[in-house]
Amino acid sequence: MTDDPIPVLPGQLDVLDALPPERLPDLPGCVRGIVGMTTNAKGRNVYTLQCEECLALETPTHLVLMKTHFHSRGDDRRRLCPDCRVHLFPDCICDHCREDRQSRAKHKEDR
Ligand SMILES: [Zn+2]
Ligand SMILES: [Zn+2]
Repeated sequence: MTDDPIPVLPGQLDVLDALPPERLPDLPGCVRGIVGMTTNAKGRNVYTLQCEECLALETPTHLVLMKTHFHSRGDDRRRLCPDCRVHLFPDCICDHCREDRQSRAKHKEDR
């Protein structure tokens, strides 16, 4: 178990080119699942989130747009990407899961 703060460097987002092999350490002082932060050209903080199941990284332009959420219900408190949530919790009735299932169903209808 390491508590070393991970350095936040401009080049850190290079990590997005390849899926990390393991769960990255949470950023110190940040909510669980936030594994990186950088500052964009406009001086806004851009956070990197990680799914705790498939380890996919997400870097939303605005934090409110993130899709890699916690469940607001249930016992699984991990941060999960939409694909993992739909896959692992097909019956979950939390807002995020319902939204994810709906957007996926809509996707199928479009085809
Ligand atoms: Zn995932
Ligand atoms: Zn849910």
